Amino acid sequence: MIRIDAVTKRYPDGTVAVDRLSLEIPDRAITVLVGPSGCGKTTTLRMINRMVEPTEGSILLDGQDIRQQPVNTLRRSMGYVIQNAGLFPHRTIVDNIATVPRLLGSSRRQARARAAELMERVGLDTALAGRYPYQLSGGQQQRVGVARALAADPPVLLMDEPFSAVDPVVRKQLQDELLRIQEELGKTIVFVTHDIDEAIKLGTRVAVLRTGGRLAQYAPPAELLSA
Ligand code: ADP
Ligand code: ADP
Repeated sequence: MIRIDAVTKRYPDGTVAVDRLSLEIPDRAITVLVGPSGCGKTTTLRMINRMVEPTEGSILLDGQDIRQQPVNTLRRSMGYVIQNAGLFPHRTIVDNIATVPRLLGSSRRQARARAAELMERVGLDTALAGRYPYQLSGGQQQRVGVARALAADPPVLLMDEPFSAVDPVVRKQLQDELLRIQEELGKTIVFVTHDIDEAIKLGTRVAVLRTGGRLAQYAPPAELLSA
């Protein structure tokens, strides 16, 4: 379990992005952070993998303060998916995915086999393996981003508006596939979106943040109060 304990983030210019946030994020479920632009969702997500350090408070992973382990070990346990996939533009699809197993010590052949397996897992035709990111649609690029995030088989996936830049029909497909992947692989997913419908569809639990970085509600979707 990830436990966010009374965390505040104040940026050097004085902006309070997150204000005394406490949240228990259960294992093997999808926890959605939702709220308007600027309410501190991305900052919260980035504190979980230490791209941003809290000003106050602490974050625990399975009971241990995340500052107690090397940052690389922490990040290896957390796949990270962002809005425009963040693919390496000069590498093919298979190499974008295979980079991760290669970094972890797999042979080139093993890494490519793993990449092909992951392409199938996320619903990508393996015939696309030799293409470059710009030759793929936005939805396909997001699938590659998800495949790459899964490549090290991390228990946790951090997803920051991963489907916001694709059209509604493709977005729905990607949402359905994320639900399927979560069920099959049992990942702990923290998912950021500004779209309340997406939050309700995907979330096992939904944390509603409001401007100023305060937690307004934290509940299963069926129990959210409309306000
Ligand atoms: P969200 O993901 O909900 O849109 P963010 O976490 O990106 O919110 O931002 C929360 C607040 O912190 C916003 O007011 C934003 O402008 C501010 N902010 C984000 N990053 C920085 C930064 N590096 N320096 C100063 N302010 C920042
Ligand atoms: P390179 O040095 O080869 O450009 P990077 O260090 O940028 O590679 O990234 C290597 C892998 O780690 C990529 O799959 C990338 O998505 C992932 N990664 C990079 N930064 C983070 C992060 N903060 N959290 C989780 N994964 C990350």
